[in-house]
Amino acid sequence: MSAPAAAPASAVAAGLDALPLRDDLRGLTPYGAPQLDVPVRLNTNENPYPPSGALVAALSQACADAVRSANRYPDREATLLRADLAAFLGRDTGVPLAPAQLWAANGSNEVLQQLCQAFGGPGRTAMGFEPSYSMHPLIALGTSTGWIAGRREDDFSLHPGRVADAVRAAQPSVVFLCSPNNPTGTALPADVVAAVADVATGIVVVDEAYAEFRQTGVPSAVRLLAEYPRLVVTRTMSKAFSFAGVRLGYLAASADVVDALRLVRLPYHLSSLTQAAARTALAFEGELLATVAGVRAERDRLVLELRAMGLTAVDSDANFVLIGRFADQHTTWQALVDRGVLIRDPGVPGWLRVTVGLPEENNAFLSALREVLP
Ligand code: PMP
Repeated sequence: MSAPAAAPASAVAAGLDALPLRDDLRGLTPYGAPQLDVPVRLNTNENPYPPSGALVAALSQACADAVRSANRYPDREATLLRADLAAFLGRDTGVPLAPAQLWAANGSNEVLQQLCQAFGGPGRTAMGFEPSYSMHPLIALGTSTGWIAGRREDDFSLHPGRVADAVRAAQPSVVFLCSPNNPTGTALPADVVAAVADVATGIVVVDEAYAEFRQTGVPSAVRLLAEYPRLVVTRTMSKAFSFAGVRLGYLAASADVVDALRLVRLPYHLSSLTQAAARTALAFEGELLATVAGVRAERDRLVLELRAMGLTAVDSDANFVLIGRFADQHTTWQALVDRGVLIRDPGVPGWLRVTVGLPEENNAFLSALREVLP
């Protein structure tokens, strides 16, 4: 047999323009924070503490056990995992939850996508209050859901009356609220969520990816689920649980919302390895969440040190801090990269976001920042 002919140069060079790509995707660039190989990486809000040796051993065992039956498809309903998630979230929020109210997927991004697939789509809209998590509009775009950008107040809070008015006027099929909000770190008081849920005609999603880091006394929107049947709270194991590499996100909602997601999920979307690994990590909840106290203490230290440097550091309920105001935040960002420290330019003019790392990483960041400040 002769070797396959190489593609003609013209076909390679034509790139995406030659493909029958959807018109609304033409000219776009893929989402993604830079993955640079520098000594201090504080740009994607991961937990800086890796799993312990004991957890690594337990995960290896659990995956080995799961892989013995890898010839079979996994449990399509992730029954045992959803029961474990219901128990964890019940403990975290003080709200009893049934496994039927929980749903899981490969990262909370996939959960959000399934929500847009089921409740958004062509001819429908989703709405968020910016600056917020930039994947919300992108997930809307990917599911052909129109995007309506609401605004936050100047201090990045949300005013219950103004947000409710905006939602009442736009009547979106999906409202995204984010608490604590990425990239600002701001958590939402319960009255804002309630004000939106009172007037929304569609689904209200509260993205609580960073909830475990919230300040003491800040409630979770899970407490409102019983009152609002179209309210959804999404969570992830990527942050507090130090499990970003495994990809496990989940939601709590009414069992009816979960039933709707079954219409759009791919069959067997959650591999048996992922299910086994996530259940094992949940069994190590105490050990994993013990890192949260250290991260919160470092966050509060960072805020104080940044303010002592004359910068504005927004109060944070998350594992990151938004810092301003820079005359040209991109120049500062690049100067930090040049010193081996990668933080995030979240696209909000004048502001940069730093993820809370290990104490020595935070110190390296603070020293580099002191060097680059005028
Ligand atoms: N929501 C928010 C607000 C986030 O910041 C992120 C990750 N950066 C996610 C959801 C998605 O996280 P994952 O898919 O890893 O669960």
